[in-house]
Amino acid sequence: MGHRLNPGPNHSQTPGAQAAGRVAIVGGGWAGLAAGVELAAAGVPVVVFEAARSLGGRARSVDRADGSRLDNGQHILLGAYSETLRLMQRVGADPERLLHRQALDLRYPGSASAAPFRLHLPRLPAPLHLAVGLLAAEGLTFADRLAAVRFMRSLQTRAWTLPADESVAALLEREGQGKRGSRLRRRLWEPLCLSALNTPACEASAQVFVNVLRDSLGGTRAATDLLLPAADLGRIFPEPAAAFIAAHRGEVRVSTRVSSIEVDDSSGAFIVRSTAAGAADAGGAHAAAGDDGGGERFAQIIVATAAPAAARLLAPWPAIAAPFSALTHAPIGTLYLGYPPDVRLPFPMLGLDGEGGGAAALAGQPADQTPLGQWVFDRGQLCATPGVLSFVLSGSGAWEAFDAAALGQRLQRELETALGERLPPPLWRQLISERRATFDCLPGMARPACRTAQHGLWLAGDFVCAGYPATLEGAVRSGVAAARAILTD
Ligand SMILES: Cc1cc2nc3c(=O)[nH]c(=O)nc-3n(C[C@H](O)[C@H](O)[C@H](O)COP(=O)(O)OP(=O)(O)OC[C@H]3O[C@@H](n4cnc5c(N)ncnc54)[C@H](O)[C@@H]3O)c2cc1C
Repeated sequence: MGHRLNPGPNHSQTPGAQAAGRVAIVGGGWAGLAAGVELAAAGVPVVVFEAARSLGGRARSVDRADGSRLDNGQHILLGAYSETLRLMQRVGADPERLLHRQALDLRYPGSASAAPFRLHLPRLPAPLHLAVGLLAAEGLTFADRLAAVRFMRSLQTRAWTLPADESVAALLEREGQGKRGSRLRRRLWEPLCLSALNTPACEASAQVFVNVLRDSLGGTRAATDLLLPAADLGRIFPEPAAAFIAAHRGEVRVSTRVSSIEVDDSSGAFIVRSTAAGAADAGGAHAAAGDDGGGERFAQIIVATAAPAAARLLAPWPAIAAPFSALTHAPIGTLYLGYPPDVRLPFPMLGLDGEGGGAAALAGQPADQTPLGQWVFDRGQLCATPGVLSFVLSGSGAWEAFDAAALGQRLQRELETALGERLPPPLWRQLISERRATFDCLPGMARPACRTAQHGLWLAGDFVCAGYPATLEGAVRSGVAAARAILTD
């Protein structure tokens, strides 16, 4: 088998756990690990299979040659991520230490063509903090600010439920938030939509966007806080979660790819076959071997991979996989530029003028002048790695045509323009492109439930969490839901 975190001492089982039997979890991303923690805490023996050599899936740490660590993508959590925060605490990962909590503060420094913008929510009780924040937003006209407050009030009055799903752009237009390109949309709603759903407003599901607004801007004051990772992602949840599982009778096997799942018709048990994966990457000590070909038997199984891998593994059950086998996906790029340690941004997180949104965003602008950068983070202020800046490029767009060197030059220029000062040349750069970062969050998307038609076969993963976009919280909630369903079944 792959690199195992070995089972710890025996722990007492709840009655639900005794009935559950031994459970296989395919995928060591945040969904699979959340399911593993929840089951292990109840005393269920679990085995988590992870094909990659490190845990965390689409939210993982990446080792650099010099021994330092980056993330595969800059992640932002919100105060509203209640299940993620609960499970972090459960596994001994202290959110207060590992996440940098700050009141929502969206800043665009402005450019030759656009005035500076700032939305800052003051530390007042909800919903006052939102009303005051919106009414005081810098860089919007008074009419824009009132329109934004009215929009939030109107959604709240309708209990955050739209009569029918549509695109975010259509909703914004109908709700008096201006036309495409208007300042209110460009500075506030469209960047929020792209950051939260990784789908441009012209395509994104209005209902899912409204759900995000309900749980963030429309929630308590603490729910609107930004929680920016103050450590690499592996330490925030995946690694402590794996240690917790191992200490509670479970096993976590990295570099171990599940190649097939079958049911033994006579017993109803699942036969899980696995193979070594990424053994070369894993290094000699942790090389994976897979099983001996005969497979291992489990009473139940949670498939907690991204949708395309789940569809492949569930080929024996085409009806289960059908609703999500056709999901389409969008990329996210993160470019890290490493500067001398004294390079520091005026704020930990800064908005840039790139709109994302693919070809539509380019309309009317020559490609070589289209701004590309959307957000830049100062990881020196956040993660104690002075001089390291991460630029986020959400969704399909012109950035995909660039290599790291060319992208670095463009983004450095854009940042210099935004700051009004020159930066030294970067000492190093690293571009991480996740081609299938998130599923396209489109209007009226069908989402599978965690329970499937095959008894004992469960689904988890961000795409399973109805009403949420592809987020850490959606992934964690789906894992918790699958585990709780097993415990109460
Ligand atoms: C660059 C980037 C930036 C993001 N930014 C944010 C953000 O700011 N805030 C936010 O909330 N969310 C963000 N997200 C989304 C978030 O990371 C994902 O929604 C979440 O991590 C999905 O978790 P998951 O467990 O559902 O799936 P995954 O992370 O995809 O986990 C599935 C795991 O299954 C494994 N696997 C697949 N097939 C097999 C197999 N056959 N056998 C064994 N293992 C297998 C994979 O290797 C993977 O580790 C971002 C995503 C990316 C890529």
